[in-house]
Amino acid sequence: MNWITNYVRPRINSIFSRREIPENLWSKCDDCGTMLFHRELSDNLNVCTSCGNHMAITPRERFAALFDGGVFSEAEVPLPNADPLHFRDQKKYPDRLRAAQKATGEKEAMLVATGEIGRTPIVAAAQDFSFMAGSMGMYVGNAIIAAAETAVKLKRPLVLFSAAGGARMQEGILSLMQMPRTTVAVQMLREAGLPYIVVLTHPTTGGVTASYAMLGDVHIAEPGALICFAGPRVIEQTIREKLPDGFQRAEYLLEHGMLDRVTPRTEMRDELIIITRMLMGLPPAVRGDLPAPEAADTATQPVTAEEQPAEKTAKK
Ligand SMILES: [Zn+2]
Repeated sequence: MNWITNYVRPRINSIFSRREIPENLWSKCDDCGTMLFHRELSDNLNVCTSCGNHMAITPRERFAALFDGGVFSEAEVPLPNADPLHFRDQKKYPDRLRAAQKATGEKEAMLVATGEIGRTPIVAAAQDFSFMAGSMGMYVGNAIIAAAETAVKLKRPLVLFSAAGGARMQEGILSLMQMPRTTVAVQMLREAGLPYIVVLTHPTTGGVTASYAMLGDVHIAEPGALICFAGPRVIEQTIREKLPDGFQRAEYLLEHGMLDRVTPRTEMRDELIIITRMLMGLPPAVRGDLPAPEAADTATQPVTAEEQPAEKTAKK
């Protein structure tokens, strides 16, 4: 109990902790190494302003930039049975889930929302790679079914942003069962005559590319995204051959007919507006109106029965 512990040490600590804050304001591009100011980076949707590298973006940030005025309502997804296999590796599965929930602030690896883009009503779903590698488990299956059911009920197109390391191994065969389940969900959209657009983001791999991520009417990818079932390293080791440059990257897949478009994230919203309006038979959006959702008088149809949050839709 003297002035050193009571006064000097707290002062020293506060000087050092203060210094840490400014460092968080900068992120380093993992491709070109440029230091990017956080606001500049988020204004550019986490795309490096120096080299155009597309870094990860959370579903919530993506939706805030996608929907008119950043306004969307979250659709409810029925919660599956947690940890049906009582799975444990180094950690128990429920502990892993809780850690991911704490780190991301999200319930699970997929976010479903309804809203408008360029005054076009849509349903959107986005997978969160930061949540246990976006792995497809029962919740993700439920989310896609909820998204498809909401789209059918509201007669809207579904836009899905995929990002996944594959199936969630902690759920064993139950995660693999999401492949046929989500395929049926996509079929529901098809039968209702509604467009299903998939935006493949880095990385989309494993069982996700063997189901809903490859069943879209239109496939758009972000530049440089790795899109594959088995990754390049596994293939190289299996066939013992050197793979070509850019193998399984978006641009390579576009060239080989696996994709329809490769579109930078900063242009994605405009492109989705054009495509959804075209496929829904709506008149083209007035371009000048796109960034300003407040200006009311464009030639779009009045939207009715819009904003009911999809509470009743979610059923297994
Ligand atoms: Zn860069």
